[in-house]
Amino acid sequence: MIKLEMDEPCELKASDTVFLLVSLYAIRFEAETRTFSNAPSRACSTMSNLLDSIDADLVKPGNGSKKRGRDSTGSNDSQAGEMDLGEDEEGDCVVLKTKKKPKYKEEENKEEEKSAEAKDIPSSGGHWSIGLLQYTQNPEKFGDVVIEYNDDWVVIKDKYPKSLLHLLILPRAHLPSFSHLTPSHLPLLKSMENIGKQLGSDWLARKEGKDVVKKNPVPSPQSSSVLVGFHAIPSMTQIHMHVISNDFDSISLKNKKHWNSFQPPFFISSSSAIEKLASDGEIVFNKAQYDPYLDKALACHRCGTVQANLPSLKIHIASCSSANV
Ligand code: AMP
Repeated sequence: MIKLEMDEPCELKASDTVFLLVSLYAIRFEAETRTFSNAPSRACSTMSNLLDSIDADLVKPGNGSKKRGRDSTGSNDSQAGEMDLGEDEEGDCVVLKTKKKPKYKEEENKEEEKSAEAKDIPSSGGHWSIGLLQYTQNPEKFGDVVIEYNDDWVVIKDKYPKSLLHLLILPRAHLPSFSHLTPSHLPLLKSMENIGKQLGSDWLARKEGKDVVKKNPVPSPQSSSVLVGFHAIPSMTQIHMHVISNDFDSISLKNKKHWNSFQPPFFISSSSAIEKLASDGEIVFNKAQYDPYLDKALACHRCGTVQANLPSLKIHIASCSSANV
């Protein structure tokens, strides 16, 4: 890992792939892999020039990718000057992290600012939003988090589970977002879905078994099914499929956005995503269209009753016996 200041000289070859994580005006962190094809064969003078030469649009306000975000402290008010540059396991990837003084200040959700998720630095370093990559690169090193893996995918426990069961399934291949998927990835998605459904039904069977042992022959309604799917607009880089039981019994489920992110239409079932990729040849979700769903009223996913706040919703769903899920 090389540490560079913004105006320090750096060297990159034309064929180098750049893994770029940049805080732009602290509006959003972007993680992208780009082939640095426009580089001079030897060196680029400074990091500032490198950023400009990679993608001028990326550093301009008003670009479609400028979205509300936080830095690794959960704040949107970071100071200028810090940057990390390094190589990935294959040695062909440069990781770049900057913190720039914001030029624009946006309203932040206070609950989100305090969230531990927004402060979570991966053990390998870097911004919280790349925290899932470490498990795809070295699953064997994370025995306490990784449930199962093969050459195609890795299953991990979600670090901030929003239900009694909450797993994530990640492709081993570097696939930062839906935009990197083509129909060639259909077998991979189906394989991820299969293992997700299998683990979900195993968990339900074990849970119902325990209920019977507890002399409660009727399985409790709180976890009558397990959802397998994606957030339309994920916050973390690297594609990840959620496997989540529908009890939502967790202290990590802290706000309306958490709740609504696991409700349709923001939550996309794995089968819908797979069908979309098969029929359209791509998976595209428009952020402007989907983000407002996160602010929907807090409606019970079983009976549809709207609750005033999250604590009352949690109390309600713990006893709601409607089977409408
Ligand atoms: P999303 O990107 O919104 O689809 O969800 C990202 C998920 O990753 C959330 O459910 C987080 O709780 C979870 N998460 C965040 N950081 C980590 C981490 N370092 N390890 C495991 N799970 C994480």
